[in-house]
Amino acid sequence: MANKENNIKNIVESKLCNSCGACIASCPFNIIKKDNDNIPRVSEENCINCGICKQVCQGTGVDFLRYYEKFHKKPYNMETTLGDYQGAYLSFANNDNIRQKGTSGGFIKAFLVSLLETSKIQGAILISSDEKECFKAKAIVARSKEDILNTGKSKYSRSLTLDVLKEIENESGKFAIVGLPCQIQALWKIRKLNPKINNRILVTIGLFCHAQVEVVAKRIIFKKFGLDKLNIKEYISRYGKHPGTPHVRLENDDIIPVYFPKKKFFRPTSHEVLNVMYHLYTPKRCMYCFDGASELADISVGDPWFKKRDLKNFKDIKNINFNDGYSFVLVRSDIGNELINFAFENNAISIKELPKEIADKCNKKMLKSKKLRAWYFIKKEGKVDFGDYEKLIPNLSQEKLLKQRISNIFHILCFYPSIRNFILKILLSNFGYIFLYINNLKRKFKK
Ligand SMILES: Cc1cc2nc3c(=O)[nH]c(=O)nc-3n(C[C@H](O)[C@H](O)[C@H](O)COP(=O)(O)OP(=O)(O)OC[C@H]3O[C@@H](n4cnc5c(N)ncnc54)[C@H](O)[C@@H]3O)c2cc1C
Ligand code: SF4
Ligand code: SF4
Ligand code: SF4
Repeated sequence: MANKENNIKNIVESKLCNSCGACIASCPFNIIKKDNDNIPRVSEENCINCGICKQVCQGTGVDFLRYYEKFHKKPYNMETTLGDYQGAYLSFANNDNIRQKGTSGGFIKAFLVSLLETSKIQGAILISSDEKECFKAKAIVARSKEDILNTGKSKYSRSLTLDVLKEIENESGKFAIVGLPCQIQALWKIRKLNPKINNRILVTIGLFCHAQVEVVAKRIIFKKFGLDKLNIKEYISRYGKHPGTPHVRLENDDIIPVYFPKKKFFRPTSHEVLNVMYHLYTPKRCMYCFDGASELADISVGDPWFKKRDLKNFKDIKNINFNDGYSFVLVRSDIGNELINFAFENNAISIKELPKEIADKCNKKMLKSKKLRAWYFIKKEGKVDFGDYEKLIPNLSQEKLLKQRISNIFHILCFYPSIRNFILKILLSNFGYIFLYINNLKRKFKK
């Protein structure tokens, strides 16, 4: 067989694939298919080794600094956590049903519905649930209000969002796309190579992202609590008051918790559960990722994670009840700005502008630690190439290096699948229940 080193097989095997879906969307022969864990697999015997899939793949890197400069018209500043933006807002959907169906404040859904209903877009590329395994992400082209609302809340497992791009390539209208930072980066690559797709995209909405989680984790959890035997209509990653707890809706419309469904005393929040998952099931490629705020998207959206003390001098913001559901929104481009104003004037969303000194504190802990982790991995392992990025990484002090090495120890299980599965099973036992409860108390105390 001819040497097929120009396809993405090696990238996947070296665990540098973060499931963006760009390769699936770009292979001219449609011979890359997703497997059961949302990882792309090439049918080698049919591959002509043209190299297109590898060209659009950002698993082994992306020319981030050049894209950044082109987009923001200024050089990248390694010290910022959010990247450059034109405006920062707290926002939520004016329609209460959409706000409740939203992950944070339902901003994205309300914004997209408003664009769709006024024919600014013909549809949006979004993530919905897989029909067989509800917790698994499935990319769709949403073409109606119902499609958008039915996508549900954030799916934190591998998502292959771009794999449906081919569906819109030959259409005539415009589309919006919602993706993780790495998926937005891959989209930059695709748009450069494929003018047809480039012409289809009106606006990109990037999510904030700490990390994805391997699909197998949820499979183990569902099996452990017997959920794999139930007829499930909907997976709700965050049910109830923000940040909510993972639940499922059954065929008879009963809603039951995913974790410890039979216990009544305490329920771990989505946030707590995710923190544990990140230490066991983060894909290796995420360790190199420094873009936690979708710095190359027209609009970036996350949760308004602030420390109370950050808000103490801003009474009107301090008094907001974030549990009611709010999205933290950054506008980074003129088109982003124009469309948000449009959705606001169209009465689809409420927005409250945030002063820069507050906005810059949002998600700061996550974004800083993610950058530090990436700097450490990029310098030490050097397997992912971000162009000249490495030259700009500040020299890490001994103290920071030590801190990072200690933090890496807590991620080490991500590299040992059988051990991490064993630990997860312990965490799902009564012992784990007590551990999560103590963890919850610790958090409350810290606040
Ligand atoms: C893997 C992951 C990690 C995240 N980490 C953080 C974090 O650390 N800090 C933070 O502040 N926010 C994080 N978020 C973002 C947060 O969960 C919300 O998605 C965001 O605040 C938008 O809320 P909303 O109510 O405005 O969006 P909604 O109105 O609920 O709309 C969200 C849209 O996102 C799409 N979507 C859902 N899952 C995915 C996915 N996996 N990939 C691509 N699109 C998807 C859905 O199609 C949906 O239409 C993360 C999201 C994901 C998916
Ligand atoms: S045919 Fe080209 S794009 Fe398709 S898998 Fe092979 S190298 Fe990749
Ligand atoms: S990172 Fe994206 S393009 Fe690269 S192999 Fe994975 S899914 Fe394909
Ligand atoms: S951490 Fe980075 S590489 Fe991993 S899923 Fe999030 S954006 Fe992609």
